[in-house]
Amino acid sequence: MAAILGNLPTSVLAFVYLVAGVLFIQGLRDMTHPRTAPRGNLISAGGMALAVGFTVLVTDILSPILLFAGLLVGAAIGVWLAVTVETTEMPQLVGLFNGFGGGASALVAGAELIDMFGTGSFQVGVTATAALAGIIGAVTFWGSLVAAGKLHGVIDDSSVRYSGEQAVKALFLVLAVFAGLHLIARPNLLGTVPLAGWVPSYWVLVAAASVLGILLVIPIGGADMPVVIALLNSYSGLAAATTGFVLDNSVLIIAGTLVGASGLILTVIMCESMNRSLANVFFGGIGEASEDDGEMEDIYEGQITSTSPEEVEMTLDVADRVVIVPGYGMAVAQAQHAVAELAELLDENDVDVEFGIHPVAGRMPGHMNVLLAEADVPYEKLRDLEEINPTFSQTDVVIVIGANDVVNPSANTADSGPIAGMPVLNVGEARTVIVNKRSLSPGFSGVPNPLFAQDNTNMLFGDGKEMMQELVNIYKENH
Ligand code: NDP
Repeated sequence: MAAILGNLPTSVLAFVYLVAGVLFIQGLRDMTHPRTAPRGNLISAGGMALAVGFTVLVTDILSPILLFAGLLVGAAIGVWLAVTVETTEMPQLVGLFNGFGGGASALVAGAELIDMFGTGSFQVGVTATAALAGIIGAVTFWGSLVAAGKLHGVIDDSSVRYSGEQAVKALFLVLAVFAGLHLIARPNLLGTVPLAGWVPSYWVLVAAASVLGILLVIPIGGADMPVVIALLNSYSGLAAATTGFVLDNSVLIIAGTLVGASGLILTVIMCESMNRSLANVFFGGIGEASEDDGEMEDIYEGQITSTSPEEVEMTLDVADRVVIVPGYGMAVAQAQHAVAELAELLDENDVDVEFGIHPVAGRMPGHMNVLLAEADVPYEKLRDLEEINPTFSQTDVVIVIGANDVVNPSANTADSGPIAGMPVLNVGEARTVIVNKRSLSPGFSGVPNPLFAQDNTNMLFGDGKEMMQELVNIYKENH
């Protein structure tokens, strides 16, 4: 079926792609600040809608009705996911999206090969980039499914190590590369074999890369997952950019390169935040808590001081400077509005209040920033790790709400383990530390936290939202 705007000159489509590319870049720029991020999202989505819409209208691919029906179904699933998925489940959703991007790239590259070989033509450039898109796409798809499964708890999230692990991975990589070389070389050498007969090499390549994707992520455990998700995000961009070369589609190359580059930058930031090298994450075998780490009662026996909202309010009453450190538990409890109200009340009573934000607090990059922005906490009140750490020794009270790993002082002293060497917020240096959580359970890494047993720490046991709300009510009554 002919395209609706099929007779538009191709230069118009090229111009529209250029505009879409500019919108992606502007969108990314806006996303670097929480205040402008929503606008950045809209601008980028607008660029994508423009690019997809024009491609469907101008290019003679399939029936436009079928295409728009597909778009509608995809959009409906997107809206349903956006409305139903909890913010705490975002990392696995992002993981799935990365995977779908990689899978789509591998399938589109395969379809293009079938198309090209079917017409009896052979272009080495297209075949080589399709092979690359197939490898990266398949690794991304299966790696992301495993990562999302681990984060969602449907796959055991411990690190699975075995002897000869690196050799097995190398074997599948070699198999995938060999299938790719076969695909590129043979159609050239043997003109007698129908070109389409070489397409199975592509699917061998995809199968080998799929196993490789699973093998790459299975050994990575617990606390290293954020790095893996960020890296797979980068891979999905690379796969899309490579597919852009296969299709000779400039907007796909631009979008894919932007995702690939920003994913890589994020990966580096995450590695730095966790004091890891990328090689260490993939091959280091760190990521497991020791077996003894589970026996919390023995570790904390007789050393825990509990407190109540009433006592905390009295402590806050005489404080000049308070730092609030949120973590994953604040997201679970949806306590951000109560926390914001508490900070506002303290501020009104001339207390110097700041928030200490660890780069990997929560379950996704920027998780705390998003929640606090949603609760209208002024962005100027947020301090990152390097800024806030030197101030703890001059802080009267630190309120830790649902954070655990990111305030665990054992990260500074342990030689091994999931969080060894990870820079943490040194909240224990403050005069008084209030830790709000429901129990003494460990955080994401499974490592016990000696902060809870420190002399200046008081544990405020209970759900984050209930405790903060109670604290706000008592503070209001007394001021
Ligand atoms: P943690 O996972 O270390 O700890 C969260 C704490 O919140 C738990 O100990 C839990 O204790 C408490 N909690 C849970 N529900 C509630 C509730 N309703 N009210 C009060 N407290 C609650 O979180 P952190 O933010 O300190 O650290 C993040 C961890 O997640 C790091 O290890 C990081 O590597 C990892 N990670 C980070 C990602 C990212 O991109 N930011 C992505 C994936 C993992 P209790 O059950 O006793 O209440």
